[in-house]
Amino acid sequence: MTYLMDDTTDAAVLTPCRQDPEQWFPAPGGTAPIARALCQTCPVIDACLEAALDFEGDARRADRFGVWGGMSPQERADEAVLRLAMARLKEAA
Ligand code: SF4
Repeated sequence: MTYLMDDTTDAAVLTPCRQDPEQWFPAPGGTAPIARALCQTCPVIDACLEAALDFEGDARRADRFGVWGGMSPQERADEAVLRLAMARLKEAA
């Protein structure tokens, strides 16, 4: 979601989630396939995902909400675990 991004984000960018925000917050267990697909057309998808991962840190899946950067809460939780594992491998090398 664009509101998480810092001041470097172009506020004039009309992202899909600004047009119908409720689609990005499905009921628990929902996967929001339409929102995730629309994110793939978003000009700031990479920055959005990085902002979400930074904001959520090492939060558990249950503490992540909504679709950000084209990923569901479960996908972002998996991505965070993968990135942490890769960072640890890099440190150990
Ligand atoms: S990537 Fe998705 S959630 Fe992020 S700003 Fe774009 S439309 Fe919104």
